[in-house]
Amino acid sequence: MTRHDAIVIGAGVNGLVAATVLARAGLDVCVIEQSDRLGGMATLSVDDGPELAHLVHNLSPRVRRDIGLDPHRWPFRQTALPTVALDESGRHVIVTRNAVTFADGTAHPDARACLALTARLRRYGELLRMLAEAAPPGGDAPLASARGLRQILRLGRFGLGLRGLGRAEARRFLQVLLSNAYDLIRDDLPEGPLAGMLAADAVRGIAQGPRSPGTVFTLIHRYGHGGVAALPQGGMSAVVDALAQAARDVGCTLRTGVRATGIQLQDDRVCAVTTASGETLLTSRVLVGSGPRLAAELVGAGAFDIEAMRRIGRIRARGVAAKVNLRLDRMPDVPGLNADQLRGRLVFAPGADYVEAAFNPAKYGEMSDNPVIEAVIRDEGAIWLSAVVQYAPSDLNGGWSDAARAALARRTLATLGRAIPGLDARVRETQVIAPDAIAAATGAPGGHWHHAEMTLDQILTLRPANGIGRYAIGPRGLFLCGASTHPGGDVMGLAGRNAAREVLG
Ligand SMILES: Cc1cc2nc3c(=O)[nH]c(=O)nc-3n(C[C@H](O)[C@H](O)[C@H](O)COP(=O)(O)OP(=O)(O)OC[C@H]3O[C@@H](n4cnc5c(N)ncnc54)[C@H](O)[C@@H]3O)c2cc1C
Repeated sequence: MTRHDAIVIGAGVNGLVAATVLARAGLDVCVIEQSDRLGGMATLSVDDGPELAHLVHNLSPRVRRDIGLDPHRWPFRQTALPTVALDESGRHVIVTRNAVTFADGTAHPDARACLALTARLRRYGELLRMLAEAAPPGGDAPLASARGLRQILRLGRFGLGLRGLGRAEARRFLQVLLSNAYDLIRDDLPEGPLAGMLAADAVRGIAQGPRSPGTVFTLIHRYGHGGVAALPQGGMSAVVDALAQAARDVGCTLRTGVRATGIQLQDDRVCAVTTASGETLLTSRVLVGSGPRLAAELVGAGAFDIEAMRRIGRIRARGVAAKVNLRLDRMPDVPGLNADQLRGRLVFAPGADYVEAAFNPAKYGEMSDNPVIEAVIRDEGAIWLSAVVQYAPSDLNGGWSDAARAALARRTLATLGRAIPGLDARVRETQVIAPDAIAAATGAPGGHWHHAEMTLDQILTLRPANGIGRYAIGPRGLFLCGASTHPGGDVMGLAGRNAAREVLG
């Protein structure tokens, strides 16, 4: 029997980050991963096609610092990828942090309004970032303890940041924070591809439409760490390789093909993890990277009080994002876009209403007729168009049969074809990774992007549920560290980093 100071179950982005933070504090850490690859959901792929996650939006600089990531291993040359808001008439719009123009370089009439809105979202994002970079406030830390004082300081900094916005802007921030993205966007922008792009960004990966309350929060979350999207060279696996190397550099043991089947307790305290192969790994701290239901299953419901089990059972996690990968025989010709522009972040969402209409069928278990798509085209040996497609609900009526996957591929192609004529003739291979396959491969509930929906009742101290919002769960020594915890998913690592700091605290 081997003994470790801590065991992390699941080598997703958050598990790897959590392990590294713990090891840098001097703990002997072992990560066990059920599949034969590292990176969890982010690196899930089929037959050497593109991975599930294709863009890094938000890998927190704080995380990079706290895991001592070697900048030379970081697989980015270009940090910010321009967004191309695709337009059916060929008047595509190029959006960067500082400019909004038509693709032919001519001025866009809504450039000023769009830049002002995104700059505002970034300012708000800075505020939410202060909350994201720590465990949510609350818990039972006495005010006079070091932890209590840290919380007060953090809230004080947040208050100062709010004041720094100025009185009018601070009031506006508080007014819009819990409201819907549609109204916020349409207050400043007319209907069209720019409004559509922002609406799509507000709801990416979540089972909500831009008119759903709270989607301003998720839009700000998208912009919370700079609001840029970056395309890693070598795909998401290269990002995960860098994270894994950072973990190994500080002595973490990373084991793949090892499935946790139980967590043993002694005197209501974690004492060991058992695996499918019959091993027992002794430890006094376990971090679970894949959600509270897995934690409860592994420990056994008896270790939780009835109310906690009820809350865990009611956490909403309905995945709606699927991945459609198209291998092309050559780069497509897109009227109105040059070759460089075609390598940007391509968003097909012709308007905010379009995004809301795409969401409607998903409420009733149907996939969108006209989906919202975020795509990138990668040319690294083979040419792949890699598309995140919404809405493709995990609880699809009739299930995710071959016919359903084929229908999603057809709709994706038809939708992209509205802005990229002749795309279908370029396609040599099609891959569809639907939420059911994501759930089966990773254990993520509903194949959900964030493991748990990002609604107002499941964020901050309430994430993933009231009473388990600060990473510790159930018996002593047991913690959550995955996307279902504050501040949520993405290839961001903050959930894992915050969880590890709670363990150390
Ligand atoms: C279609 C789609 C596209 C996406 N695209 C992007 C994108 O472009 N950019 C972005 O930033 N984010 C993207 N995301 C979201 C992002 O991939 C996730 O939020 C993030 O990877 C979650 O990481 P995690 O470490 O919290 O969880 P996971 O990656 O789910 O890791 C959990 C790990 O635990 C393992 N595990 C589970 N049970 C056990 C067990 N019993 N024993 C051992 N191991 C176990 C699983 O195998 C898994 O490896 C996308 C998500 C989806 C669904």
